[in-house]
Amino acid sequence: MIIVKYKTALQQYLKKLPSSFNKVGFVPTMGALHEGHISLIHLAKKEHDVVVCSIFVNPTQFNNSNDLAKYPVTIEADIEKLTQAGCDFLFLPAVDEMYPPNETNKHYELGYIETILEGFYRPGHFQGVCIIVDKLLALVQPHTLFLGRKDYQQCMIIQKMMTTAHPNIHLTIGDTIREKDGLAMSSRNMRLNATERLQALKIIEALQYIQQQIKPGNVTILKKQATLFLENNGYKVDYIEIAAASTLQPVLEWDGKVPLVALVAAYLNEVRLIDNIILKSVG
Ligand code: AMP
Repeated sequence: MIIVKYKTALQQYLKKLPSSFNKVGFVPTMGALHEGHISLIHLAKKEHDVVVCSIFVNPTQFNNSNDLAKYPVTIEADIEKLTQAGCDFLFLPAVDEMYPPNETNKHYELGYIETILEGFYRPGHFQGVCIIVDKLLALVQPHTLFLGRKDYQQCMIIQKMMTTAHPNIHLTIGDTIREKDGLAMSSRNMRLNATERLQALKIIEALQYIQQQIKPGNVTILKKQATLFLENNGYKVDYIEIAAASTLQPVLEWDGKVPLVALVAAYLNEVRLIDNIILKSVG
């Protein structure tokens, strides 16, 4: 695996690829890699000649400076995992390389989807996500961008940004990879102590409860029950929402047909966990 720190160097490498090796798959990450990230590398390798991964803890997407300061960094282990997975290039820029001094950041028109859920609780977060992904896509110019469904709303936001900024780049979304006990893998899980790690399971239990119990009609009580369940297990809940899977519009009365997604964001002490689950239609 070739490790590159500078944009110009990465462009040189990619320009020099033989024409028979020109289908590039790109997996952007913030590091502290786990099997969720590596599943995206495998997915990219299956269909593409060359796989580029980036590791960059993007400051503009953190609305909480403590979260940024405590974001785990495990670069040696990350390099080992990417090498094992057969990744071809790792782009590892410094902050100044992606945000040159005196450069002003773009603003993206993202509409309704930026105002809800993560957008509501983390103001400015999705602007920061779009700024960095837009810059990385312009640099790598991949055939396909690979993202994880674990960040459901982020996938929709980036898809929206790409329709105007990068209409020719494809998007592939990989399934959420979970620990054996069901906890969605996340770099932030490293910050959980032993007690919190056990409590963390309650997130998927709450989502599975919704998945099992949902039926056509009013879904408000189900949301309340799931919220109470998490609160009774030591969480501070930002949201539990049941929404249309294609628009993220909250659903109050379900017709039993519209595909739904249940989404959750909740704090276990200082660590904020998010997860989601697709809810199957009936009949
Ligand atoms: P991050 O490093 O958290 O910014 O994530 C980088 C990419 O990996 C994003 O597209 C995430 O959605 C994806 N990802 C993170 N966790 C998982 C997971 N458990 N399963 C699948 N993809 C994931």
